[in-house]
Order: sequence, then structure tokens, then C-alpha cells
Amino acid sequence: MIIILRSEASDADIQAVEQKIRNMGLEPHVSKGVQRIVVGAIGDETKVDKEALEALPCVENVVRVMKPYKIVSRDSHHADTVIDVGGVPIGGNKLQVIAGPCSVETAEQMQQSADAVAAAGCRLMRGGAFKPRTSPYAFQGVGVEGLEMFQKAAKAHNLPIVTELMDVRMLDTFLDHNVDVIQIGTRNMQNFDLLKEVGKVHTPVILKRGMSATISEWLMAAEYIAANGNHNIIFCERGVRTFETAYRNMLDVTAISVLKRETHLPVIIDPSHAGGKAWMVPSLARAAVAAGADGLLIEVHPRPSEAWCDADQALSPDQINKLMGELKGIAQVIGRDL
Ligand code: PEP
Ligand code: MN
Repeated sequence: MIIILRSEASDADIQAVEQKIRNMGLEPHVSKGVQRIVVGAIGDETKVDKEALEALPCVENVVRVMKPYKIVSRDSHHADTVIDVGGVPIGGNKLQVIAGPCSVETAEQMQQSADAVAAAGCRLMRGGAFKPRTSPYAFQGVGVEGLEMFQKAAKAHNLPIVTELMDVRMLDTFLDHNVDVIQIGTRNMQNFDLLKEVGKVHTPVILKRGMSATISEWLMAAEYIAANGNHNIIFCERGVRTFETAYRNMLDVTAISVLKRETHLPVIIDPSHAGGKAWMVPSLARAAVAAGADGLLIEVHPRPSEAWCDADQALSPDQINKLMGELKGIAQVIGRDL
């Protein structure tokens, strides 16, 4: 950590800074330049209260040298981590497409969805039994019964299931229903109590990016899960809020490059909640694969126009089938496999 002092800092000020650093368990090293005095603090930066130093009148700026995230950082683990989801690897050379409806509706809809997902060659299935809706009057999901319908339909094709957990009180129910991957949605990315609890189990977690979260905040949210013991974390970029209204969210393709450098954990893309329109999904999905994403999370419905949630953005069985063919080609070009 580097502490830059104001030019008028007195010897007494410098000593006060040195003492504060020592009290935090680090060793201060003062370097007096012509215009600036810089104090380096050597030791465990996690012990440093940055704000307490910045609050000193003689301090101009405090700069961290180490990254605040550790377990999820590539510095702590150089090789790409591959997460095993019921025998399906996420994060290796093989790309995975997780497809399925926005929400679980009926047993028949789930069975038809599972048929379409498996027929297209996707190896995992998505579907929300509990839905975070903007309006309290909108369909909220079918609840626990949905988990049962989902499992039944998916297991017929050996598809591990991905479903969103919103309420920590439902975690045991998710475990009882053998949910293969717990999804933490954009609205809960910084629900720290929820993150801590999913950190205490070993079920893989898809952590979606908060719609207005910086990449650093997102990495720190993942660190909450990892710090509690669960290292099976998959990042999912799903578009961020901007001034643009022509689409639902702006897919941050750049985040793929940044995350692949910053973390060893897998990174997937949700083109459905980014574009918000089915016609945009194929191009965003192709861009994501070309940019190095480890997989995709795509909404698919047997009859998109009848979907109870996010009807505009769901692909039909034919559309996901066609898209999978295109993605295979792109994967091959970049030396990957789908
Ligand atoms: C979803 O995947 O169904 C969902 C609600 O996504 P997000 O949290 O990205 O809005
Ligand atoms: Mn949705």
C-alpha cells in the first residue's frame, strides 16, 4: 500500500502516519521526494483500513497495490478452473450452452423445453421456479413445485439443472431437490448474506453481474462466496444498464477479456437478458464465443410467444438448434469445442 502525503506534511504528521501503519500490523517505509513524501506500507494489506488513513489531514491519497480479491484471483491460481456440474465440465476447452425457459410454467412446458434443449445438443438446462420480477403483480414463479417439474423433465435427458435462488430460507429446499447449479441473479449480486450462505455449500454457483456493478465489485461478490468455502463459482455477464434504450442491457463483451485475465474461474454470457429480443440473441452469442466466453446461458421456450416471462427474448427450438450449429463453427475456429 502506498500513502501519498500532502506537501506541507510536518515531521510529526509523518510519525503519526508511521504509527498508524504499525498499529495495523504493517511496516512503514518513508521516502521523501522534493515535492512529495510517500510512505510505503509493507505487509498484509487486508488488515489496512484505507479510510482511516485517508481521514488523516496530512494524507492526500492512499493506493492499494494488492488486489482486494484473493481466492478468485488468477494470482492465486494460474490455470483455468474447470467446474464439474454433474459430470459436465464448465470452464475447460469445451464450451457449454445452458438453455431453457425463463421460468418453469407447467410439466408439459418443461418436458418440451428439455426435449428441445437436448435435441439442440445443449448439455445443461435453465429455468426459474422463483422469479425476481420488477412488479409485485407480475407472475412470481411457480415455486417449489417448479423445482420438481424441472428435475423430472431435465433428468429424462440427463441435463443438470440451473435455477435461481433469491431467498436464503430456500437454500435447504434447493439442496433437497438436488439443484445442480444455484443461480444468483443480477439483483442479488451484492446480497452479501445470501452470498455467504451459498458459500457454505458446495453446489456450483452462477454469479450474475449486477446490472450496474463494476467488474471489481463483481469479483468481490464472488470472493464472498469463495471466502466461505465454496470455490465452484461461474461468472455470468448479462448486460449492464446504460443510457441506451434500443435494447434491454448492453452486453459488456470487454468484461470477458478482463475477467479471463483477473480470475481463473469460468466466465459465461447471457445474451438473452442483454439484448432482450430473440432476434439479437444469435449475434450476441456468436460474439461471446468469439471473445472467449466459456459458455452461454440462453432462454429457450417451446412456444416463445406464449412464455409467461420474457417472451420477447426466448428462442424457439428451431432457433436454438440453428444457433448451436453456428457456435460450433466459431468454437472450432478459435480452437475450442462445443
Ligand atoms: C434470469 O436468468 O431469469 C434472470 C432473472 O436474469 P437476471 O438476474 O440476469 O435478470
Ligand atoms: Mn428471463
